[in-house]
Amino acid sequence: MTTTTAQLSHIYPRGSRVNERGHLELGGCDAVELAREFGTPVYVVVEDDLRARARAFVDALAARHDDFDVLFASKAFPCTAVYRVLAQEGLACDVASGGELALALAAGFDPARTYMHGNAKSEAELREALAAGIGHIVLDSRDEIDRLAAVIADRAAARQDVLIRVTPDVAGDTHHAISTGQADSKFGFSLDQAREAIARLEAHPRLNLVGLHLHIGSQLLHLEPFRNAIRAIATLGDFPVYNLGGGLGVAYTSDQHPPSPEDYVEAIVGALHAEIGPGKRLLLEPGRALVANSTVTLYTVQTIKRNVSTWVAVDGGMSDNLRPMMYGARYEPAIANRPLREPTTVCHLAGKHCESGDVIVRDARLADPAVGDIVATPATGAYGYAMANNYNGVPRPPVIFCRDGDARVVVRRETYADLMSRDAG
Ligand code: PLP
Repeated sequence: MTTTTAQLSHIYPRGSRVNERGHLELGGCDAVELAREFGTPVYVVVEDDLRARARAFVDALAARHDDFDVLFASKAFPCTAVYRVLAQEGLACDVASGGELALALAAGFDPARTYMHGNAKSEAELREALAAGIGHIVLDSRDEIDRLAAVIADRAAARQDVLIRVTPDVAGDTHHAISTGQADSKFGFSLDQAREAIARLEAHPRLNLVGLHLHIGSQLLHLEPFRNAIRAIATLGDFPVYNLGGGLGVAYTSDQHPPSPEDYVEAIVGALHAEIGPGKRLLLEPGRALVANSTVTLYTVQTIKRNVSTWVAVDGGMSDNLRPMMYGARYEPAIANRPLREPTTVCHLAGKHCESGDVIVRDARLADPAVGDIVATPATGAYGYAMANNYNGVPRPPVIFCRDGDARVVVRRETYADLMSRDAG
């Protein structure tokens, strides 16, 4: 087989190709060898892909706006090595809990460029954020204003910069579970409530309202809702800082062509300049678009069963990727040991868990799957590792970083001992 880069879809990490052995190659590493060396299931991250996507956002912003920062919305892939790479690339960080804050700081993010979100932050989390010297706390409710005001009252620290999260009643076209901008949302303040909160914060001696935050949803493949949301919050006044969220969608299957980071930034910056003004500090916080396509999960086929359908069952499933079960998310698997063979077998790619719903890809197409084949599902970097779990006592997979033909373990495979490590009695 000739070496080729052309036939692999854009859903694979940058630089992926089919090598001389006819195997999928990721970050210069043969995927079949990776499966052999590290076992399956395994999350394979192409480090250069992560870095390139971070740079694409920074460069797109630098070309269009003076005062900005790109935040890694770390809920998408809260893995120390991923935080570390994105910190090295100069990104700032968005955390949605005390745990993500601890991970981000341990990985080297500057607390002053770390920002905390969450619709139900606890008093302990607010205290942790203040103690760390976090950049902004993004306030999400009246109760939280009360809580933060009470917490800060008994601290010596001077003032805390805050944003308020506004729910602009603009929804993008996405799964309801990841749509957040609609009026009936658990997140943020409605426009009217935001006016009240702004007035209250402007009078507060210790909470320094510097701006507004928006995040209308995730996996958005059209740019118009972003513009509409910016137009909606422009009615709330003039602030020095605007955090306009994440949400840019990615390609999970070859027929998806999301806007590029450049197009996305162009739309956001254009709307910000037109509706609010050019001289603002602009924060963007992509999660999925930074990490999803950096990663491929590898599985091994365990059984093939033919009844009404053909069921190809692998050694992972809903414990390493909940997205198909949570959102009906689609993936486009391939056999890593022959990725270019015509995928003519229609089958369900099933997981190993005790649920009929544990199907990674329904009506998948694979190339003559056989027991022992290595199956690759591309675009699993976002919300895969993040939502991994131990259902059926299945240890969570390792994370392997590949670069220039070298592979290194950045998170080891969980062990049975890990499964018992929190037992206290
Ligand atoms: N910012 C906030 C406040 C979010 O809630 C989310 C995702 O839920 C993100 C950023 C990241 O979104 P995405 O991964 O779609 O870019």
